[in-house]
Amino acid sequence: ITILAVETSCDETAASVIRNGHEILSNVVVSQIDSHKRFGGVVPEVASRHHVEAITYVIDQALKEAELKPSELTAVAVTEGPGLIGALLIGINAAKTFAFVHDLPLIPVHHIAGHIYAAQLEKPLEFPLISLVISGGHTELIYMKDHMSFEIIGETRDDAVGEAFDKVARVIDLPYPGGPHIDKLAQTGQDTFNFPRGLMKEKTFDFSFSGLKSAVINKLHNYRQKGEEINKNDVAASFQASVTDVLTAKTLQALKQYDVNHLIIAGGVAGNSEIRRRFKILCEEENINLQIPELKFCTDNAAMIGAAAYHLYKKNHLADLKLNGRNFIDIEEYAF
Ligand code: ATP
Ligand code: MG
Ligand code: FE
Repeated sequence: ITILAVETSCDETAASVIRNGHEILSNVVVSQIDSHKRFGGVVPEVASRHHVEAITYVIDQALKEAELKPSELTAVAVTEGPGLIGALLIGINAAKTFAFVHDLPLIPVHHIAGHIYAAQLEKPLEFPLISLVISGGHTELIYMKDHMSFEIIGETRDDAVGEAFDKVARVIDLPYPGGPHIDKLAQTGQDTFNFPRGLMKEKTFDFSFSGLKSAVINKLHNYRQKGEEINKNDVAASFQASVTDVLTAKTLQALKQYDVNHLIIAGGVAGNSEIRRRFKILCEEENINLQIPELKFCTDNAAMIGAAAYHLYKKNHLADLKLNGRNFIDIEEYAF
């Protein structure tokens, strides 16, 4: 089963050819970060225009690198949502056209299912598992008893983790997206500020990061008022320590309560070095089988969409040419 996968939900235009859900024949990603940097975030209209410019190139390039002709493909997969509607539609229209012209089945994929299935690019998933999804727009603990079965057992009540990273980065004058910059600064900082750990002790699997974000902003204001220079490395390290404490504590609670010993960390923030380090230690101590995708498969890419699409194809979950983009799709709807 050889799938051409397309992903355009946010600010990466991506296409990949992937065999049997894990063999990567090509993986092309065109990032728009430089265009959005000067606005401090993704501008939807700008994103759509860039997708239009790049989509034909990434698809052609993915086929070229895979050294395959369209007739050698089994199906075309595309991110259906959630994401920016104008951005999604560019990938969806390209995928529909490709499927129509080459008479191939079309597979609609949930973006977050894609993030989780990025783990499969390294080795097959084992069930039951819990996935901690930490991305730009999502923070969720998801229980999976089998392929394509998703139960959300906890989620953020306010900001997503990636959003918190990006907002905190902005207030300490780091460029967008701030996550990787905070990661870097924190490596030479200390957790000196002891910021709050939202909902950490509460008996819920939900998260809250807005209190932490406000605490960081208030601390910066205090220093500014006093005319003192704040140590940004310590701010970054303290913020990251708070986030990591909460994520590890909640995830461990969930693994215990659901009696699960397979854990996947997914989404762009799973690229964070401190989060990776702490989860590795925790899982060794607790005898948990941990899977975190390679860095380049944590942030948006099309290989992960092809990895998820493989199972959807086997379950015959296909779309016709009426497929539309969806701004929001409940992942629990994706239980097949
Ligand atoms: P979603 O997947 O929820 O729709 P998205 O696709 O925009 O959102 P991703 O591409 O999964 O999000 O991840 C982007 C986020 O990951 C950004 O918020 C970015 O700052 C964050 N991020 C990337 N690398 C790191 C890192 N090393 N440390 C912390 N955050 C990071
Ligand atoms: Mg992105
Ligand atoms: Fe994403």
